[in-house]
Order: sequence, then C-alpha cells, then structure tokens
Amino acid sequence: MARPFAKPFYRSREWEKVRQYVIRRDKYLCQKCGSPAEEVHHKIHLSPENINDPEIALSPDNLVSLCRDCHFREHSNKRTAVAEEYEFDENGFIVPIKKDTI
Ligand SMILES: [Zn+2]
Ligand SMILES: [Zn+2]
Repeated sequence: MARPFAKPFYRSREWEKVRQYVIRRDKYLCQKCGSPAEEVHHKIHLSPENINDPEIALSPDNLVSLCRDCHFREHSNKRTAVAEEYEFDENGFIVPIKKDTI
C-alpha cells in the first residue's frame, strides 16, 4: 500500500523548508478544527506525475496545515490517496509513513 515514490520527497530539504513555512503561516494551527497542526497536507495530492512539479509539490498555495485527525480524514474519503502519506503495517493498521510532528 505504501507509495515509495514520495519517500525521498518527504525527506528533502526543500520539503522541510516549505513545510516549516506553511506551518508558521498557518500559526501552528490545524486549518480545519483549530487544534495544534501536526502535518502539512497537499490539497492536490502528490502523484508520481506531479511530485517533480514544484508548483504542486512545493507551492504554499497547495499546502495546508492540519492536525493528524483532520489530515487522516482528508485522505480517508479518497481511498487511493491514503497511500500518499500512510501505509498499512503488518497488522493491517494504517500508520503514517513518516512522523511529521513539529
Ligand atoms: Zn484538525
Ligand atoms: Zn495529505
């Protein structure tokens, strides 16, 4: 279920920079519910086709800070997109690929 194409991206210096920027811009709050933001979400989900397009992958306009619950919800209604940042562990539970806390 994991989509390894995104792993190097989430480890990149560019992503770390823009992630910090977006969380700061959003005042460290989830833009859905106001809880502390834990993750940064791509409004247009990353795909192997757009991950090298900075306008999508690294544009603050395409990014929003969310708490883990809201982020998970953003993805859970689109079954294919869940795999962007989550994978299934050996017990079948959905877990984040990378711990993305502040
Ligand atoms: Zn939230
Ligand atoms: Zn997301």
